[in-house]
Amino acid sequence: MIVEMRKGASKAEVDQVVKRARSLGFDVQLNCGTDMVVVAILGSNTGQVSTDVFAVLPGVEAVARIMKPYKLASREFKPQNSIVNVNGVEIGGQRIVIMAGPCAVESEKQITETARGVTALGARVLRGGAYKPRTSPFSFQGLKTKGLKMLARVREEVGVPIVTEVTDSRDVALVARYADVLQVGARSMQNFTLLQEIGKSKHPVVLKRGLSSTITEWLTAADYLLAEGNENVILCERGIRTFEESARFSLDICSLPVVKKVSHLPIIVDPSHAAGHFDLVPAIARAAIAGGADGLLIEVHPNPQEALVDGLQSLTLQNFEKLMVDLRKIAEAVGRYI
Ligand code: PEP
Ligand code: MN
Repeated sequence: MIVEMRKGASKAEVDQVVKRARSLGFDVQLNCGTDMVVVAILGSNTGQVSTDVFAVLPGVEAVARIMKPYKLASREFKPQNSIVNVNGVEIGGQRIVIMAGPCAVESEKQITETARGVTALGARVLRGGAYKPRTSPFSFQGLKTKGLKMLARVREEVGVPIVTEVTDSRDVALVARYADVLQVGARSMQNFTLLQEIGKSKHPVVLKRGLSSTITEWLTAADYLLAEGNENVILCERGIRTFEESARFSLDICSLPVVKKVSHLPIIVDPSHAAGHFDLVPAIARAAIAGGADGLLIEVHPNPQEALVDGLQSLTLQNFEKLMVDLRKIAEAVGRYI
């Protein structure tokens, strides 16, 4: 249930709504917008309580039920767009944010060379996995803490924020010490313990869409993060499983306008994992910017032929340079910039 307070409602009036909700055994979250406060009343049995319970209270403008499984990620709760601030890099604003780097951190040389290269070309966040969630237990699993330390060094040296994946709730505190943004991989989208732990950390987080998840399931997973008080949630569309086999996944471009319509959260696109092949990446990346993405997460490797993971879908620095030229033009055409 959503309680919309009147413009200029006093703090005492808001407090009274909160108190009433708590007395009925509900949880509460506030969205304090510039000119009005919205109170989300959360609980499994809000449906059994009449909206009048809140509508009669002073300062209340309207009370509505949210008939969607996700509440906090919805635009009903928060009409204005959310902007996630990562050490001064804003995701969800006018400026589109390009995050680039290798699939996995492999060596000091590899990550440093990539960081210098992509930032010089306009990437503002460096990606690189230290923990790799692999489909097979026999595949390269990442350098783990060694990889995190390499990321920390390069972050210091190049001055670029880092996004890196965390796969286990027991590692959240550790990874959060090194990463500016935590990544929840597609395979972990419904790892609810992991989501809750990241929620508690309040650390900026990229939540990738599960391989076979609907948009509703994805936004409901985002509610796990938001419900713990973590407002720094960035969604990432990375393609879903369909009957089509010509690309690694089918990038659901529709999710961009759909998410923008139903949610206030920023959304970025990962064209690399959708494509599976480097020569498909530029077109998908361009389409994502044209379609309203707030950013991109792109795999770039200084020498893709020698990459330990995802070399086939990684752009060289030269290809990334060409792509950035095109992306800037498209951003401008849709009233944004990079
Ligand atoms: C990745 O970004 O390195 C990754 C493993 O992506 P996904 O979880 O989308 O497969
Ligand atoms: Mn990858």
